[in-house]
Amino acid sequence: MSIEWPSATLEVVQQRPLTVKNPKTWPHIHSYGGWGRFFAGLQERKILATRCANPRCEEKRLWLPPRCECPDCWHAMDWVEAPQRGRLYTWSIVKYPGELFKLPPDTPLISVELDGVCTKVMSWLKEGKPEIGMPVRAVFNTQRPTHTILDLAWVPA
Ligand SMILES: [Zn+2]
Repeated sequence: MSIEWPSATLEVVQQRPLTVKNPKTWPHIHSYGGWGRFFAGLQERKILATRCANPRCEEKRLWLPPRCECPDCWHAMDWVEAPQRGRLYTWSIVKYPGELFKLPPDTPLISVELDGVCTKVMSWLKEGKPEIGMPVRAVFNTQRPTHTILDLAWVPA
């Protein structure tokens, strides 16, 4: 038995390092479930975080990304608007991103520290040169939204 080589070829974008264009078109339909409110909030230029609503629970920190249930008592959470100004906690860039990476290579991927929020927000810097500790403010893609976390970005404040 002999099997023919695959006939489909990929367009070579560059030789060093060898980079090919591999178009993908499969649909993936999924619900954001309880987190849908967070993504809807981005279209209202709001960053929505959550805090435990159980009066008997001691866990009162503000979580962002939001959590649908309290990590300590599993009670439903209250939605709270998070600050839109913070500090760049750390950053990195991706030189050779994977197939599903939606931002241009060299986009600064940043972690943002917000007052009152117990977690760091993973996001991207839309303008400017990243520096640890620099003040940043949120910007929102409301013109042609992707309805993903990429609709939130940060710029120097
Ligand atoms: Zn709780």
